[in-house]
Amino acid sequence: MTTTRTRTAIIAGNWKMNYGPTQAASFAWEIMPDLAPLIAAHPLILSILCPPAISLVAVYSVMGERYHQGIELGAQNMYFEEKGAFTGELAPSMVRELCTTVILGHSERRAYFGESDELVNKKTLAALHHGLRPIVCIGEHLDQYEAGQTREVIHHQSKHSLDNLPPAQVKEVVIAYEPIWAIGTGKAATVEGAGEVINYIRQLFGEMYGDDAAQAVRILYGCSVTSANIGEFMLHPDIDGALVGGASIKPDFVEIVRKTIETIE
Ligand code: PEP
Repeated sequence: MTTTRTRTAIIAGNWKMNYGPTQAASFAWEIMPDLAPLIAAHPLILSILCPPAISLVAVYSVMGERYHQGIELGAQNMYFEEKGAFTGELAPSMVRELCTTVILGHSERRAYFGESDELVNKKTLAALHHGLRPIVCIGEHLDQYEAGQTREVIHHQSKHSLDNLPPAQVKEVVIAYEPIWAIGTGKAATVEGAGEVINYIRQLFGEMYGDDAAQAVRILYGCSVTSANIGEFMLHPDIDGALVGGASIKPDFVEIVRKTIETIE
C-alpha cells in the first residue's frame, strides 16, 4: 500500500551520545553507499543525520558531494545566543556552517538539562533567524499519558515552544511528536494513537499560524521506530516521517529509509 504526499518526508536519525569522530565517520562510510542512491532516486524524502556535535565535521567530510542531495546534517542541540561567554555551547551560526537542521527540546534535554518551553522557543527563533530548520520535540510522560493528559501537555508545549514564529518561516519548522513513555523502550505508540495526537498538533498549529501553515508543516513521529514499524506509520496521512533514536546508529536506518520510500511511491 502507498500514499500520495504533498509534504516531503523526513527521516532524521538522532545518534544521541554515540559515536565519536572516528566511529561516526566509519558508520557514515558504512551506510552511505546504500543510503545515497536510495535518496537520490526519490525527490520526496529527506534524510538527516544528527551525530554528536564533536562528530559533525567527520560525518560532513564523509558526505562530501552527497550533502544537499537529499542527505543532510543536523545538530542535536544549540544555544540561542550569537556568541560569547557560554562555555560548552554552540552558536546558531556555528551550527549553520555544517548543518541544515537542529533538533531542539528533545525530551532528554528537557529532563536532564532542565530545558523549558520558553528556552526551546528562544532556540527555535534563533535557528530560524540563522536559516536552520528546527526539529522541535514535544511529547508527554507516562504518568501524563496514563492520566489522559496528553492533549493538555501537547497544547501547552505547542503554544509555548512554537510561539512567535516569523510568518515567512513558519513552514520551515518541523515538529517531532515523541511520547516519552515510548522512547528507547522498543514499544512504539500505536499508529492510531500517534496519528491522533499528530493531527491534534496540526490543528493547534493551524490555530496559531493559519490553515496553509498547518497543511505545510512537517510533523514526525518519534520513539522506537524501526524498519519493522515505519511502514505502518508512514501510511497515516498526517505523519510526515520519523525522528529515529536507537535504530539510527545501526544499518537498520537505511532500511527505515527504504521502507519509507516504498510507502510514498
Ligand atoms: C528519540 O529519543 O528521539 C528516539 C526516537 O529514541 P528511540 O527511537 O530509541 O525510541
